[in-house]
Amino acid sequence: MPSELSTDIVIVGAGVAGLWLNARLRALGYSTVLVENARLGGGQTFKAQGIIHGGAKYALHGALTGASEAIADMPRRWREALAGDGELDLSGVRLLSEAHYLWSPGTLAGNLTSFFASKAVRGRVDQVKGEQLPPALQDRAFKGKVYRLAELVVDVPSLVARLAELAGDGLLAGERIEPLNDQGRLAGLIVDGRAIRAQRVVLSAGEGTQALLTALGIEQPAMQRRPLHMVLAKGANLKPLYAHCLGGGPKPRITVTTHPGADGQWVWYLGGEIAEAEGVAREPAQQIAAAQKEIAHLLPWVDQSQMRWATLRVNRAEPAQSGLVRPDNAFLADQPGLLVGWPTKLALAPDFADRVIGALQRDGISPHTHAPLPELPKPALATPVWDELLP
Ligand code: FAD
Repeated sequence: MPSELSTDIVIVGAGVAGLWLNARLRALGYSTVLVENARLGGGQTFKAQGIIHGGAKYALHGALTGASEAIADMPRRWREALAGDGELDLSGVRLLSEAHYLWSPGTLAGNLTSFFASKAVRGRVDQVKGEQLPPALQDRAFKGKVYRLAELVVDVPSLVARLAELAGDGLLAGERIEPLNDQGRLAGLIVDGRAIRAQRVVLSAGEGTQALLTALGIEQPAMQRRPLHMVLAKGANLKPLYAHCLGGGPKPRITVTTHPGADGQWVWYLGGEIAEAEGVAREPAQQIAAAQKEIAHLLPWVDQSQMRWATLRVNRAEPAQSGLVRPDNAFLADQPGLLVGWPTKLALAPDFADRVIGALQRDGISPHTHAPLPELPKPALATPVWDELLP
């Protein structure tokens, strides 16, 4: 039987939420253990497009209210962290794009009028033309309007690698998780037979949180899965593009991000409406055909003859929708001895950490002195999906 450990906070799930929280807590002097049962970042995090939303997308359909400052502040917080002078030092993390773009291929004036009138975008959106256009749109045949949003796009694998460095000796590969109860109270977890005593347990296991709650005999908070069917395209001639392409409706018709393959070629990663309901119902070959048709229509100058394609099915894990959930906040719920939540977006990992730290401070949980951790079995980093699916 491995020896018992003692720490301030034990976190389960090393996606962006658990890793960011872990780094923040360590920076505040808490001792932590972060348990992962598969690979670091290998859940939703490595499948994210990496856009650090500031809420502009929601302003398109009026869902962003004056009260929703959390998401509006995310680009600034990430920018400071990436520059090495924010709440975490992420100075080595690769920034894929300084901006995300909004691209209106036709005449969608009505849609854009309300968008530009909204508080969320005022002063933060500029129209770009000519050489300022994203490289993939710089073609004579291009028609439409493009706006630059003050939203970043980060390279998620390098982000996770940096957050794993900041985790120091606190990462633990562990599969079997049981509650450690003391006089009827949750006093930590038993991970693969090793007791880990902690002042608080935090569950940030994404889609795995539901099963963990069941294992702990807890019914709330309820979780929902939102399925997506993403498309990937790789080709030697692809140029980078980071943009929401507007359709007639409130949601972007396609959201394109571009990621570096291990062989140096760019990979387009397509989400947005194409990856939702109808896209989920399509078989992979039909989904690829639908994406090819969209690209031929929207970017007719792109040579598709040398492109390779793949699709990826993935669920977004979120709290079951209720009046409490807004797209612009992380979600955190309290249970005795336990905090449970979902950031709902990669961009909102700082907000998730704020909420946990706020709950700890409210409950008077401060850093204690613990024996140094022994060397623990470490989980490996995940592989980028573009390298897995389109090597
Ligand atoms: P996850 O990344 O899913 O991490 C959970 C971790 O817990 C995993 O590593 C998993 O292995 C581990 N785990 C599960 N069960 C257990 C267990 N029993 N014991 C131990 N460990 C366990 N957000 C944005 O802000 N911008 C974007 O551009 C964006 N694009 C997206 C694109 C797609 C296709 C998807 C699916 C999501 C996107 N998101 C985006 C949302 C974002 O990816 C998620 O909100 C975020 O990654 C969730 O992080 P997490 O740490 O909560 O969950």
